Amino acid sequence: MKRPITLTAGGISFGSRTDVGSVREQNEDSLIVQPPLFVVADGMGGHAAGEVASEIAVKTLGECAPTSPDAEGLGAAVEVANREIINAALTGQGRTGMGTTCTAALLEDHRLVIAQVGDSRAYLLHQGSLNQITRDHSLMTELIEAGVLTPEEARHHPQRSVITRAMGNDVAMVPDLYEIDVEDGDRLLLCSDGLTGMLFDKDIVKIMKENPDPQQCASALVDAAIDAGGLDNVTVIVADVAGANATSPSRRPSRATITIGIVVALILIALGLSLWGGYAYVHGSAYLASSADGYVQIYRGIPDDTLGFSYSELAETTDIPLSDLPPSIAERIRENVRVGSLEEAQDLVESYRDQITEKATSPTATASPASSSGAKETDPDKTPAEGTVG
Ligand code: MG
Repeated sequence: MKRPITLTAGGISFGSRTDVGSVREQNEDSLIVQPPLFVVADGMGGHAAGEVASEIAVKTLGECAPTSPDAEGLGAAVEVANREIINAALTGQGRTGMGTTCTAALLEDHRLVIAQVGDSRAYLLHQGSLNQITRDHSLMTELIEAGVLTPEEARHHPQRSVITRAMGNDVAMVPDLYEIDVEDGDRLLLCSDGLTGMLFDKDIVKIMKENPDPQQCASALVDAAIDAGGLDNVTVIVADVAGANATSPSRRPSRATITIGIVVALILIALGLSLWGGYAYVHGSAYLASSADGYVQIYRGIPDDTLGFSYSELAETTDIPLSDLPPSIAERIRENVRVGSLEEAQDLVESYRDQITEKATSPTATASPASSSGAKETDPDKTPAEGTVG
């Protein structure tokens, strides 16, 4: 099997891995890596039903999630996925009572939005400190917040896997939404509780700092969870914000400065963009586009035409029809997906090819280009707490 490598799209470099762990027989976690969308889902329900639930969650989000960081839109897509899981159980796919957590992120440029259900987590490594973005929907979190248990007591509590909100058992379920401005150098981590149940935050942050490459970081985190016991399925996505110009609220310039800046910028653009376009062309910028008959194409250069000049050249028309790709990816390609180099464009095309192959060979499989090939399995410990849903 081809060794997973870090991929880059839209200024975000990312890697991922999922593993069955050391104890379970099947992997009920699912993930999808479809920039700007990143999702981890941890299924539950036993007898392989958890796998069905988590796969429906990521598949539906892959099809319905917005193509830019829109929190309300992402939340609505999670609600659609929730109803899909409930309907699947009613029609005999999986079984009644199956459910899943879902931590879904849309990350593009310097904007991050997250929709959260359950106890999978999103963290942000910012200027060397690890911050948990999401709040667990779990009995342990409620007892810790009420002062009944300490975090250390909760780690060993027999009911540590009871979650208080899940997808799959309440048609009125709504996710928690988070909206965050991120900066160059920030690192997003999405993970199932197979990571956080095995490692302390101090161990996680150490590994995240020691592994600058996102794919190597994802693999190292999973390895560490397995080395620590691997009692549960473990799934990790790591995505780095880099390459674009950061604009955090605290550093945002005034409106007057923006106006003057726009005038100056327009003059400079008129005078200099042709030079810049030539530079970008020579230095290997690339982008994906659609051919007239609907196939993915790789262009060298930039898609813009300025003053009647074009700064791109067709490098390759692939054999991948847009109709084989998830609709959200196809839509982005039609609008041109810019990447930093021809090699990055080719890597991205290969990841699409892998997704199509996986989908073709496994009717229920969902895109996870950098995941390991573990069989999926049950998670008998984790159960939604009845009566506390929502
Ligand atoms: Mg789990």
